[in-house]
Amino acid sequence: MPKPYVLQKEQELRIEVREGHSLTLKLVKGQAEVFGTDLLEQQIYTLRGQKLAVFSWEGCEVQLQGVGEPVEDAIEVIYESDDTPMREYANVHNLLQTRREAALASKFEGPRTMVVGQVDVGKSTLCKILLNYAIRRDCAPTMIDLDLGQGSIAPPACIGATPVEGPIDVEEGLPVEMPLVYFSGNVSPEPNPHLYRHHVERMAALLDKRAQSNAEVGAAGMVINSMGWIDGLGYELILHSLKTFRVDIILVIGQDKLYSQLSSVFRSDRRMNVIKLTRSGGVVMRPREYRKSSREQRIREYFYGPRNDLQPSSSTVPFTNLKVYRVGSGFAAPQSALPIGGQSYSNPLKVTQMLNMNDLLHMIVAVSHAQQPEELLSANVAGFVWISNVDPVQQTVTYLAPCAGELPAPFLLAGTLKTYFR
Ligand code: ADP
Repeated sequence: MPKPYVLQKEQELRIEVREGHSLTLKLVKGQAEVFGTDLLEQQIYTLRGQKLAVFSWEGCEVQLQGVGEPVEDAIEVIYESDDTPMREYANVHNLLQTRREAALASKFEGPRTMVVGQVDVGKSTLCKILLNYAIRRDCAPTMIDLDLGQGSIAPPACIGATPVEGPIDVEEGLPVEMPLVYFSGNVSPEPNPHLYRHHVERMAALLDKRAQSNAEVGAAGMVINSMGWIDGLGYELILHSLKTFRVDIILVIGQDKLYSQLSSVFRSDRRMNVIKLTRSGGVVMRPREYRKSSREQRIREYFYGPRNDLQPSSSTVPFTNLKVYRVGSGFAAPQSALPIGGQSYSNPLKVTQMLNMNDLLHMIVAVSHAQQPEELLSANVAGFVWISNVDPVQQTVTYLAPCAGELPAPFLLAGTLKTYFR
């Protein structure tokens, strides 16, 4: 039996679907949205293990129903709240929209916004809301995700960018047909911050060119999600990204210290606005284990699709067919493991070929757009393969790719990212 819920103006229904369970959501009447994506009346949306809020500006009635089980069994937590930061977030959207319109009229660049804060403060959620509200006003900002651990554009260990031209799908997330992706090979920038900075700089330079060649793209601006590591090296990398992308609006969620640090760093920069925003009480804290399993889920989705309906293809090739490289030493000691003031003297941006194919077992390896090994450092990636077997006797490697056929490019990049598809 479907279970009805009635929301008053500016109320939200917060739902945590149990991992591995699904339920359906239907808007019966009124206006409702999920992180800025308007729900269509009578359409059935399937929510798989998601944590989300159905928010209404005007009031609405929705129905929830379990898939093959009572709805109560599929739900971990559900409650209504009228204490939301949605008005604040809508005000930020209005500010961005005014800037976009002024930019279009004057042929200047539109707002470049970065959302910062610790993990689990609602950064990705705010990015979604701002992008969806921009789309409703016919703007297509570029979404950039600099979070290697929980990025929304590409599998883990990548930073990615994509123009967002349509509302973000409630079931499947961002539409990412042709994202610009750089693979660092690790879910944290800590082992090789030089590579992270290098990729951020490459990405910013390419997106600058794109913005300069199309006035509408430039005026729509950027919405940038950052990583939740905000201390020490993490903070330095955030500052580097802010400067490299020439961000002019920083949205700090729920962190007084970070807000005050950034306000004082940019005090004399008249272009810069640092705005503090409230963390929604609905944002769910995700323990380390959950974060790890959602990374594995992201990788699985890359190969098998979000609905588990894609058929990846397995190929076996001789060792000599695969030219796999690695940047830096790959297994370098993290900065924190070095003595104070200590420095690693190996070249962190050196590209070397991996000669021991056994090391590749169970690795996620990126297929680079590079045409020469020297280009591997700076080239973005076309896709990923998973190394399912290495046979030292036959001297062959078996890999899983999202589609059949030859790899689109000859050079591959590995790091330390492994998965086992349990
Ligand atoms: P961050 O990017 O800061 O790590 P997220 O935006 O990913 O945080 O939010 C963490 C989790 O909380 C996500 O699963 C998200 O869908 C969920 N969430 C965010 N806002 C709400 C809300 N208002 N109600 C219910 N769940 C929410």
